[in-house]
Amino acid sequence: MAIVKKNIWLIFYIFLLISIVFFMTVSYFKWLNTYDEHTSAQENHVNLIATSTHALFATHELLLDIMGRRFIEDETYKNNIPATKALDKLLKLNPAIFAFGFAAADGQLLHLTSHSDASKLPNLKDHPQSKDSFLETLESNHMVIGRTYFFNPLQEWVIPIRRAIRDDNNTVLAVMTGGLRLQDAFEPLLKSLNDAQLHVLSIVRDSDGYPQYQSNYNSNKTIYTEPSSRFLIQKYEELIYKTSSISPQTLREKELIVSFLSPSHNQEKILISLKYDYTYRLWTIIETRYSVILEAFFESFLLYLSIFITTCLAFLFLIRIVVKAEKKREAELLFQATHDTLTHLPNRLFLQQNIHQWLKANKPFSILYIDVDDFKNINDSFGHVIGDSLLIELARRIKAYFITHAANPFIIRYGGDEFVVFLHVTEPNELRQTLDTLHALLNKEYIINEMRLLASVSMGVAKFPEHGKELDTLLRAADIAMFASKKTKNSIHIFEATMEEAYLKNVYIEQELRKALQNKELSMVYQPQVDKDGRFYGVESLVRWNNSKLGNVPPDKFIPIAEATGQMPSLGRFIVETSLEEMRSIHTTLGTCFHTSINISIKQFLDVSFLEHLLRTIEQTSICRVAITLEVTENLFIEDVDYILPLLNEIRALDIEISMDDFGTGYSSLSILRKLPINELKIDKSFVDELSHDETAQTMVQNIIAIGKNLGMHILAEGVETLEEKEILTQLGCDRFQGYYFSKPLTKEDLLKFLKTSS
Ligand code: C2E
Ligand code: CA
Ligand code: CA
Repeated sequence: MAIVKKNIWLIFYIFLLISIVFFMTVSYFKWLNTYDEHTSAQENHVNLIATSTHALFATHELLLDIMGRRFIEDETYKNNIPATKALDKLLKLNPAIFAFGFAAADGQLLHLTSHSDASKLPNLKDHPQSKDSFLETLESNHMVIGRTYFFNPLQEWVIPIRRAIRDDNNTVLAVMTGGLRLQDAFEPLLKSLNDAQLHVLSIVRDSDGYPQYQSNYNSNKTIYTEPSSRFLIQKYEELIYKTSSISPQTLREKELIVSFLSPSHNQEKILISLKYDYTYRLWTIIETRYSVILEAFFESFLLYLSIFITTCLAFLFLIRIVVKAEKKREAELLFQATHDTLTHLPNRLFLQQNIHQWLKANKPFSILYIDVDDFKNINDSFGHVIGDSLLIELARRIKAYFITHAANPFIIRYGGDEFVVFLHVTEPNELRQTLDTLHALLNKEYIINEMRLLASVSMGVAKFPEHGKELDTLLRAADIAMFASKKTKNSIHIFEATMEEAYLKNVYIEQELRKALQNKELSMVYQPQVDKDGRFYGVESLVRWNNSKLGNVPPDKFIPIAEATGQMPSLGRFIVETSLEEMRSIHTTLGTCFHTSINISIKQFLDVSFLEHLLRTIEQTSICRVAITLEVTENLFIEDVDYILPLLNEIRALDIEISMDDFGTGYSSLSILRKLPINELKIDKSFVDELSHDETAQTMVQNIIAIGKNLGMHILAEGVETLEEKEILTQLGCDRFQGYYFSKPLTKEDLLKFLKTSS
């Protein structure tokens, strides 16, 4: 089908070509057919007329013969009166004959039908008009037909017919003669011709070429007085001989019917059919103008032509419908491929296909990278439908703003929550103002499904040609500026060369981190935790990365990168394995069992093989299970609670404890806290820091402790640096402590020493 669509015009042209060939073939055969039909019809007519003419003459010959013999044999006819009577009677019976006569062999007329006077008529042998045919009659065994002439007394064209009456010795005794009315003899024959007007019938004498009869003689009365046809007959004979090798003699003897085309006198072609009557030496000729055949053909041809044209037009119409539909479909497909279905904005592909126009124009422009802050959280907390609605509204705001504030902006949905805008604004003040207004507009609350949502956006901006001349370099510059904005979020940064350093460092960290595990650059340290009596209670294990080029990279720098680049599961496995193995070895050395808290990142927690790996490691290290605590943060519950909660319950059922890290800094609500199987709340260092000089911090910590106690949890304060902080916390009801006041995080060896000296 695709091939058909692709080559649809080719198919049409092939169809057209085939149709033309078919049409021409059909027309050609129709022409042959029409020509043949005309020819055979004409030949039939020639045959019919020739036969009729022959029969007419044969009947009259018989008549003359019988009558003549009676005149000779019957004595009564020697007398003129009975003779005339007999002739008159005969005349009545033969209306085509206008007169009968009986002449002596010397040409003298003896008897005549009553309306003429025989004595006044000339001697037939002497009279110039009758002399030839009379003499011929004396020679011939057949009836001789004389030339057609105009008989004045009757004002009619007549054909004389004569028959010699002979004795047994073949001596001519008398000549019986008659006059045939031309009209009565031949006009009835014309009726057999379908449309007599279109054809010309001639009956021509072979002996002298005079026409005996011609159907259109009315228009030319001199025709019977000119032997013009003689040359024509000769010409026809030559033509016939040339085209079908029939000799004039065969033609005559066999009385063949032959048809052929001949140019006429006025150069118009004529279809001629002829037949010779050997007995009476007459040619029957019918002529039809070629144009008559052509006209007959054109009637069918026009019908074929109209069918042909209609079919071609119908097919063309059909093809055009298909082509149009196909073009529309292609345009739709192209639109679909180059536009985002959600916001209907052009997409990345469209950008790639069209950016050259902006670059070629060589007119300064700015490229603006817009990204929604924490869009994932919005999606996760409120669902994808709300997230999509937010993006639609955001796109609408961007479009609406730029349509009124910039000439021909080019707005692209670049990815999930990322938009890219190209605009011809580069002047610093104007650009700043544009960005600030847009930023404020996009940060305005969103009302979706009657729900008020707050979202902020970060923007990164680069300028053409200042920050790059290619799309890739420009996008990268805008992305670097975005990276700077993302540090604080909800801000706008225009690209500067110095940003590249921080950005590159990040990229570098990512690359180095990928090799860190293999290169054994990662290790664990353990920070001791004590109870309210100052007794050692357990440790929090913390990861360390020492890179040859980057030096010590703090975990809160590289952990987010590991999370963002999908390295957290493998890094997490290293942390769990190392922590459990090292602590188990201290347990063994000291013969004790103390708590080990391990920080578990969300990404690590969501890894499907997390729990299975943890249990396997516990099994392999055979560490005391009751002493293991997993530290999770509040943002874990922003993820799918329906997945997290059962997993936490499962972990609790395995006698592994759970600690809520950085409590009070995140989103979690009290209602959710109630449902969670948590053993310990960790008060964040930021609250502890404020304790000694901020009363609200004290109230806050007090509240947290109260809630925790209420829910039967232990409360651990982290980041305790001074005795004062420790005392305040003790007063407020805190039962576990961790911080530099007690000890910094220690390597396995240092921890062992620490434990040996403190006990
Ligand atoms: P966190 O879980 O809140 O860890 C406590 C951080 O506070 C640690 O920093 C620790 O060294 C520091 N600290 C403890 N007592 C004091 C104090 O008295 N004063 C001050 N100024 N700091 C104190 P660290 O090791 O740099 O870790 C930073 C963050 O990195 C951690 O915060 C945790 O979120 C993450 N992290 C560290 N190790 C791991 C790990 O193994 N796995 C995971 N997933 N995250 C880790
Ligand atoms: Ca922690
Ligand atoms: Ca913490």
